[in-house]
Amino acid sequence: MTDTYTVEPDVGFINEVSRLGGGDLKKCFQCATCSVVCPISPDTKPFPRKEMIAASWGLKDRLVGNGDVWLCHNCGDCTTYCPRGAKPGDVLAAVRSYAISEYAPLKTLGKWVNEPAKLPLLLAIPVVLLARFISVGLLLTVLSRFREFSPRLFSIMTWGGLRGGISIALALSLPRGPERDIIIAITYGVVVFSILVQGLTVEKVVQRFFSR
Ligand code: SF4
Ligand code: SF4
Repeated sequence: MTDTYTVEPDVGFINEVSRLGGGDLKKCFQCATCSVVCPISPDTKPFPRKEMIAASWGLKDRLVGNGDVWLCHNCGDCTTYCPRGAKPGDVLAAVRSYAISEYAPLKTLGKWVNEPAKLPLLLAIPVVLLARFISVGLLLTVLSRFREFSPRLFSIMTWGGLRGGISIALALSLPRGPERDIIIAITYGVVVFSILVQGLTVEKVVQRFFSR
């Protein structure tokens, strides 16, 4: 007796993959040209043709948890040779973007990765943390000549460095211009991240480092 498999399409997933750049996925008519030209397609699995089926049927679980989609290096050969213009390379890139936002510990940050306008803010957060780590490190290195500090203090003082009114006031004091608006937007983002994420997790960080 043959096994039966009930297909449960996730229309929301199809729409989201389309929005993220895979809008031509429904044009695929399963000719398998992409699997022939793809340099990483194994003989036993028609990659990325089977991913195109899963995407056009909205089988989210078969794609976002599928490690194969991360093997694609987006060379674009499949997209070039696809006779239907279904752009399988773009569909796989869209699935990867979807997976990032799906698995990101903070969903909002995961979504920002897919929005070019949010990238400056996304980069600003680690840059600010790194700057804080370096400044704390320099200070504690100098002070360590006079007394001993636990190495854990570096991490806690870096994560516990919350930003607020002074940062915003400095940004608002800049002369008017397009750069000022960008800097203000990034500053607000960093401050909100600092208060909501760092502020609400600093207790856990302290417990983690000092409970050892
Ligand atoms: S994506 Fe294009 S090349 Fe690949 S199976 Fe579909 S129609 Fe054929
Ligand atoms: S873009 Fe990805 S799936 Fe397409 S041919 Fe290149 S490696 Fe293969």
